This record gives sequence, structure tokens and C-alpha cells, in this order.
Amino acid sequence: MTIIELCDTFSNDDLCRELLERLRWPNAPECPRCKGPVARLINTPNILYCKDCDYQFTVTAGSIFHDSHLPLIKWFTAVYLLCESKKGMSAMQIKRTLGISYKTAWYLCHRIRAAMATAEKSMLYGTVEMDETYVGAKKQGHQHKPGHPMCKKQIVVALRQRGGEVRFFHAEDAKSGTLAQYIKDNVSEDVDVMVTDEYNSYPGAMKQTGLTERHKTIKHKAKVYVDGDIHTNTVESAFSLLKRGIVGTWHKISAKHLAAYLQEMEFRFNRRNSKTLFLDTLRHMITADPLTFEELTA
Ligand SMILES: [Zn+2]
Repeated sequence: MTIIELCDTFSNDDLCRELLERLRWPNAPECPRCKGPVARLINTPNILYCKDCDYQFTVTAGSIFHDSHLPLIKWFTAVYLLCESKKGMSAMQIKRTLGISYKTAWYLCHRIRAAMATAEKSMLYGTVEMDETYVGAKKQGHQHKPGHPMCKKQIVVALRQRGGEVRFFHAEDAKSGTLAQYIKDNVSEDVDVMVTDEYNSYPGAMKQTGLTERHKTIKHKAKVYVDGDIHTNTVESAFSLLKRGIVGTWHKISAKHLAAYLQEMEFRFNRRNSKTLFLDTLRHMITADPLTFEELTA
């Protein structure tokens, strides 16, 4: 779907609501309070009514769209842009493209990210590559005073199943125990092989997860990058897209919101060949819990 087709198909709020209703209630609309059947108001069919609860609502009630005064087509366009841009899109760019305030654009992007974070994740299996990298201010100490959250470089850890999905984490440190926890939470016990570089936390992490015998190390220090099946090239390619996103799109990411950006990159990367990425994202948005501005800025 092109952006022209998007704007043609969803040219008014009622058409947007029809799609959201189909995504939220694949069978028939139900009352969010009692789950019972509902009727439509005759003159305003987008308002639904539950007789049992005496409750009137629309499809966006209690969802991430709730309390937004933005026309739904602007939401849809923002979702489309975030899905279509491989490296993501900054709130500043969304602001300019949609003609909305920066604050609205910023909040909008964060709510879309929050919905993406609710996607279910399966355990990784087969050959899984693990790697760590550092993102953040290059000119340390020049742009920011000590104590500023951007002053320090941030650690990002990634796991990637070869030929499969990636998981990104904003890690507090890169110690064995931290890495082991990511493995336990995301990698199947039946994994065939874990491949890492020779960073000194990995042997400990593998020991703690019982994977020492299945752990293969690529000797980057000895300038060996591929040794048969032993390499970390597929996790590194995910990192390189992430870094281009951070440098090229977002410019500055505060440490506080890095995890949310990583969720967005992970969600999009794992669905990059999906024809239903836009609909999947909208489905998560209409079914996820709302995220308040207060929660974001707390
Ligand atoms: Zn009800």
C-alpha cells in the first residue's frame, strides 16, 4: 500500500473506525466492561451502546487512541511512516510531515512504540548469535555535562536466531549474570549452538545457562570473522541497521527512552518482509493498554 492509497482508503474518521473495529473485535463488537453484546446508536453509528452497563463508547475507548484529539487518519499516517521507514522516523520528521506540534508527535511516536512492545515473543532456537555494542554520544564530555543521561555510552545487547528474529536489550552492564538472564528469558533450552565473539563475559554466561558445550567463539581479535558456520554476521547486520537508525533518524536518544526505541527497531526488523506490518501494528495499538503522557515523562 502506498501513502496515497492509505489516504484514499481512510479518507475520514468513520472509515478508520471501521477498520479499528474489525481489528479489535474480529467477530462482533462487545462491551469493554461486561463483554456483552452491544448496539449502535441509530444516528451516530460509530457510538456503541451496552444496555446492561448503560455504557456508551467508541472503538477507541480504553485504547492507546483514547483521549486523543488527533484525527485518526493522522494516527494511521504516523503508523504507516514508522512501519515503512526501515530505520524509523524522528518525532521532528513526523511533526513536519503531519503538521502537528512536536509534543503531539513525540507522544504519538511513544504510544505507537508502546503498542509494538506488547507483541508476543517466541523463544529463539537453532543457531543463535549474541553480541553487544555501545550507542550514544560520540563526543563524550563535549555536548553534555557529567551526570547528564546522554553523557555515558549505553550498552545494547542483541540475540539473533540465524535466519530468524532479533531481540534487542538496553543493558545496565555486560556482566556474565546480565547476559545469562537474557539468554534464559529468550533462548530455548534446546538451542543447537550459541555463537559469540571472545568478549570475556560470555564464557561465564554460558556456564550459568548450561550452554558451555554448545558455545562457539569467533576470534575477532585474531582477525577471524567467519570460520565455517561460526560467525556473528547476522546479529551484526541487525546492529548496523540499529546504529544507522540512531545516527541518521533519531540523532539523540536519551538513555531513558532507549529501550522503547529498541523495541520499535526489533518489532519492525522482525516483520520487515511482512505484508501485514501496518495492520499488525494497528491491531496492537487498538488492543494494548493506554500509555499516559504522565507515565512517559515521570
Ligand atoms: Zn456492558
